[in-house]
Amino acid sequence: MKAHAAALSIVLTLALAGPAAAAEPSAATHVRPINAAGAALMADAQQKSQTIRDLVATLEASDVIAYVRPASRQVGEVESDLRFLASSKVQRFVLIKIGSDRSADRQVELLGHELRHAVEVAQAKWVKDGRDFGRFYVMIGSSAYDNGHPYETADAHKAELAVHRDLRAATATQD
Ligand SMILES: [Zn+2]
Repeated sequence: MKAHAAALSIVLTLALAGPAAAAEPSAATHVRPINAAGAALMADAQQKSQTIRDLVATLEASDVIAYVRPASRQVGEVESDLRFLASSKVQRFVLIKIGSDRSADRQVELLGHELRHAVEVAQAKWVKDGRDFGRFYVMIGSSAYDNGHPYETADAHKAELAVHRDLRAATATQD
């Protein structure tokens, strides 16, 4: 848990420092990679997937800032997740963690899944802290998905599949 606390403090520092703190190859300011691996993932994802571009555009028009952090996973940890970090008067901050041991394409799919969750948070203006966030997912989530997440949404699952199709189409046009 110590590692999590350290990661959160890094992200909160970045949040206070503003958008200049992270190198950003794209024009997106509401989806912010917090390391080089995150920047590479974002560039790859936006180039290959219309679904990702649409999700990023939706977040750009929202009060949600999503930090993207590819990182190694502990044994038994899920492939990716999204946590609620904090809110200010004008913005709300979430952290997307993507398992860096996954293949490049799988990381892009997982990014699509978690960005869809970020959009869900963006649509629920009343979610202001971790407790609200927990309550929100009890309300909208289903435990029917066997992927290690206690509460999952059909929309996130659909976004992941849509990105998968985008990647297959991108590969096909390269051949
Ligand atoms: Zn999910």
